[in-house]
Amino acid sequence: MRKLICRCPETQQPVDLKLYTDYATLARIWSNSVRFQCPHCGAEHVTNVEAAWLEDTLEVISTARVS
Ligand SMILES: [Zn+2]
Repeated sequence: MRKLICRCPETQQPVDLKLYTDYATLARIWSNSVRFQCPHCGAEHVTNVEAAWLEDTLEVISTARVS
């Protein structure tokens, strides 16, 4: 299981989508859009699962590189 993170297009801050999923589910909902209330700017944004997953993965890679 992993959580999905996407980035607010207004503030560029990471947003936890509170969507915990395993890889089988992820494959099924890969191209689905996800609507969420942004905690940073208060607006409602729409992203898709693929973009959120990639954002989260890149975050992990860059964190690993720093430490
Ligand atoms: Zn936002």
